[in-house]
Amino acid sequence: MVDPELQVAVGAVVQAARLCEAVRAAQGGTGTITKADYSPVTVADFGSQALVIDALRRALPSVSIVAEEDAEALLADRPLAERVLAFVRAEASGLSLEGMLSAIGAGDGAGGRVGRFWTLDPIDGTKGFIRGDHYAVALARVDGGTVTLGVLGCPSLVRPACVTAAAPGWIFYGERCGGVWCRPLAGGVPPQAVQVSQRMSLREAVFCESVEKGHTAQGAAARICALLGVAAAPLRMDSQCKYAAVASGMADVYLRLPTQAGYEEKIWDHAAGALLVEQAGGRVTDVMGADLDFSQGRTLRMNKGVLATNGHLHAAVLGAIAAVLGE
Ligand code: AMP
Ligand code: MG
Repeated sequence: MVDPELQVAVGAVVQAARLCEAVRAAQGGTGTITKADYSPVTVADFGSQALVIDALRRALPSVSIVAEEDAEALLADRPLAERVLAFVRAEASGLSLEGMLSAIGAGDGAGGRVGRFWTLDPIDGTKGFIRGDHYAVALARVDGGTVTLGVLGCPSLVRPACVTAAAPGWIFYGERCGGVWCRPLAGGVPPQAVQVSQRMSLREAVFCESVEKGHTAQGAAARICALLGVAAAPLRMDSQCKYAAVASGMADVYLRLPTQAGYEEKIWDHAAGALLVEQAGGRVTDVMGADLDFSQGRTLRMNKGVLATNGHLHAAVLGAIAAVLGE
């Protein structure tokens, strides 16, 4: 790791992923959800955001952060805040309630084209988290509108395709011009380099997409795959684990086709994953072929959907998207 800020970011995401898994385990342990427990995803979302922002602010005091959550709900509900704090303290024992609320509230940055900011999704793929499937803690740094560093913690991923070891939970990290690495969240295995697949055959290609029908147009994606002669059914995963799948060669294509005309993708849903795919040798654009523009504030308002590929298949998939969307 060349950039010292990457080390801070990786440490923060490891802690946050551990908190999320602790919340899931506590929920599994009780078996039932009582009102006093709150939704586990709510507790983990706030807890993860508190840990990551607190770690960033300690290392980088004037940091600006664009994060998904705000502190409103916690300020209005002391018992919920106390419940979140109990999980947060297991990772950061010195953090007070006020410190935790202040960290969560500091994710209200505006982003934009000037200067440096960070963007965080404390739990990306909340539906996957609830189902016991994939989710990710996603953190990225953006400089002058360009993503320069990305970290994805994927607690449910078992084995990235390009590595030899299997472990429950992986973290992927990389920086612009610095390559991409992954290692088990629990440590114990040295980091391994991550690369996209070299697949050129569309027939053999593995496409991945959202589990949730509301997040991507699965029917149109199926028509695109049919037009391209793709043989396998799509791999459905929640969260930016799809970007990790493409970056590591588990999948060759991640297609996210808009389901509604006015939807603007959020920068925290894509910044870390897009950096990892590009630095692992792949290509990322929107479904029209335009570069993702992270300089527009909290959303990718200049873009429509997302296409991330191993690079080799990009042009062919863009052509099929244009044909099917133009039907
Ligand atoms: P995924 O796990 O890939 O299905 O994506 C989860 C993300 O989808 C969440 O973090 C939301 O921000 C985002 N999302 C919510 N509504 C939509 C929508 N209508 N279209 C695309 N993405 C959405
Ligand atoms: Mg998200």
